[in-house]
Amino acid sequence: MGRLQLNELTKVFESGGNEIVAVNDLDLDIQDGEFLVLVGPSGCGKSTTLRCIAGLEQTTSGQILLDDRDITHRKPKERDMAMVFQNYALYPHMSVRKNIGYGLKITTDLSKGEINERVEETAELLEIGELLEKEPGDLSGGQQQRVALGRAIIREPEVFLMDEPLSNLDAKLRTTMRTEIQQLQQDMGITTIYVTHDQTEAMTMGDRIAILDGGELQQIGEPLECYHRPKNRFVAGFIGSPSMNFLSVKHDDETLEHDEFSYQISATTSDELETASQDLTLGIRPEHIQIADADAENAIQTTIEVVEPMGEVTYAYFEIGDQTYTASIDGEIRISAGEDVHVVFPEEKIHIFDGRTGAAVKNSELDEKADTITA
Ligand code: ATP
Repeated sequence: MGRLQLNELTKVFESGGNEIVAVNDLDLDIQDGEFLVLVGPSGCGKSTTLRCIAGLEQTTSGQILLDDRDITHRKPKERDMAMVFQNYALYPHMSVRKNIGYGLKITTDLSKGEINERVEETAELLEIGELLEKEPGDLSGGQQQRVALGRAIIREPEVFLMDEPLSNLDAKLRTTMRTEIQQLQQDMGITTIYVTHDQTEAMTMGDRIAILDGGELQQIGEPLECYHRPKNRFVAGFIGSPSMNFLSVKHDDETLEHDEFSYQISATTSDELETASQDLTLGIRPEHIQIADADAENAIQTTIEVVEPMGEVTYAYFEIGDQTYTASIDGEIRISAGEDVHVVFPEEKIHIFDGRTGAAVKNSELDEKADTITA
């Protein structure tokens, strides 16, 4: 079993007479066998959270429970967790066999034969059986990372902690290893907490993702739930690539007034905005922007500044006022820089955030397909 709970976890560092609140009052309840990704920008407290869970940092306050046992003050080796880091930290002069088996040698009383058997099983699982007699210096980055994973897996811990384990690999290998780690985690069913600053990694790997900013939890949920129903502007901007576009507007009855255009909203949407402040942020994802005729409802006139054909889609950059926005358009539609166009933000696809607090007041409506995915 490996249910892990963080209750009001707080970590404050003292640095040059200043207090840095790295993790602030964090509550997380991670189910046995779950793959949870902690994601957020640099400095948001992801690694510190992971290090507190591992016991490598003392918590300032709060509790860490593993299967209802309070492990907050236990030593790292008493926690039954295995950690994989970005830098694999393999022993350079030991063979792969010894690197993988070393942990078992010093922490268990298994015989040499038993350790060898476990090493070979683990190497088989990771498809590195033929590398067992080599030294880390003879291996590629991807192979070294597999050895590092092997060292963690062989211990059969209750919890895996992974801190940006793929950052040192090239883009192609990252994608392959991403799938392999997911597969391995599913097969082994071991609770895993995976730290990354990369929202694509978070979206594609996690059963759930926890988004942090400034040491505070912004949202926790399934990837598509966070994508379609962000709780606030920060999450909306962080999850999704290219990012959601944001425009400052004022709510006035059934209109959202922008400096450059007026956007008519339905009475229903207007009612939804009643409790928020008048100053709002309208959010629209690039893929929801449409190129339309001048007489389309809420059409905004603009000029395409730059186009980036990606194949399946084309990113088209355009300006409203002095801000640049991005539309992601079907790659088969021909569009060129310098073209005068009208863009439309369909009302059912807009998100609206309180301009003061950033809290989501209205999220986009999901089409039936998306609804089945997130149900
Ligand atoms: P990154 O992806 O850059 O590692 P992160 O989200 O993992 O970022 P942390 O490393 O957890 O962030 O750091 C959170 C905050 O705590 C940062 O402001 C960082 O400078 C600070 N911090 C981390 N470790 C220490 C330390 N040992 N002493 C003082 N401040 C620290």
